[in-house]
Amino acid sequence: MDSQEALNCLLEGNSRFAEGEPNHPTLSPEDRAQLSKNQAPRAVVFGCSDSRVPPELIFDSGIGDLFVIRTAGHVLQETSLASIEFGAVYVRAPLIVVLGHSRCGAVTAAVTGQDLDGHLPTVSDAVLLAVENARGESDDIVDAAARAHARLTAHALTQQSSLLRERVDDGALGIIPAFYELETGRVELLD
Ligand SMILES: [Zn+2]
Repeated sequence: MDSQEALNCLLEGNSRFAEGEPNHPTLSPEDRAQLSKNQAPRAVVFGCSDSRVPPELIFDSGIGDLFVIRTAGHVLQETSLASIEFGAVYVRAPLIVVLGHSRCGAVTAAVTGQDLDGHLPTVSDAVLLAVENARGESDDIVDAAARAHARLTAHALTQQSSLLRERVDDGALGIIPAFYELETGRVELLD
């Protein structure tokens, strides 16, 4: 499967989910037995931890289909980048989807500049550049910044990882930013 075929699969699954007619594929005991031998996911999804945006459900995918990395605000740091490299280079998924979403709490915190406790500033600080890029772009600064953050994160993957860059240059890997709308359940491709 190449990156375009993988993307088509994900978009078809998202249409089924958005229309309320999911297939819930690849969940049977036979599937589990087959997949216990190895994995060949069709995509890496790097998304937000928000409980309303579970990649396997919104793309109507089963076990073994998606290699998922989630952090609040899909923040790229050493462990998230290493996990993405593992899925896209060593497990050889042909596609990476960077998935932002509407009304993201991490983006909202960066937009409002609210004081945050504990380790949370690590997340909001990581979104600040996207907020700057999005100012004046739309009346809805939070969703505009979430789209900008997905685009910047997708771009940063090849900037920060020579392993990913080599696979993209070889035509073996596609990277696409995307945006999930909570109300409609639809995934919009960015770029
Ligand atoms: Zn979020």
